[in-house]
Amino acid sequence: MAITGECFCGSIKYQIKGNLKDARSCHCSRCRKAFSAQASAYAVVNPDEFTWLQGKELLTSYQSMEDFGLQFCSKCGSTLCGTYKNKVHGVTLGCVNGDPNIEIGYHIFVGSKATWEIIPEGVVAYDEGPPE
Ligand SMILES: [Zn+2]
Ligand SMILES: [Zn+2]
Repeated sequence: MAITGECFCGSIKYQIKGNLKDARSCHCSRCRKAFSAQASAYAVVNPDEFTWLQGKELLTSYQSMEDFGLQFCSKCGSTLCGTYKNKVHGVTLGCVNGDPNIEIGYHIFVGSKATWEIIPEGVVAYDEGPPE
């Protein structure tokens, strides 16, 4: 079964014929803005296994750093995927449908989390980036 995802308004849909990898949540101030949330929830995909099924023409992009960008639905504003060198690099877990058979493995930049966020006990968390 392929993994599928879609935006809030349902105009844009994608499928992944493969597994998500390296699911993580970043609590830095940039990710909070980019995801309009307490943190990002993101997993890496193999770009060859990723296909837009519908609504690709509605995607709009924002390049936050050289080579790295995010793609959104221009109708509803959902952030659907991250790009690296203009190829899909990963997906936002919030837009994935159902159970993608992966859990967030670690939380990063917890040292700069929002004052109002409470990190659950027992999760793997790093003050800054993941250790090498
Ligand atoms: Zn939408
Ligand atoms: Zn971040």
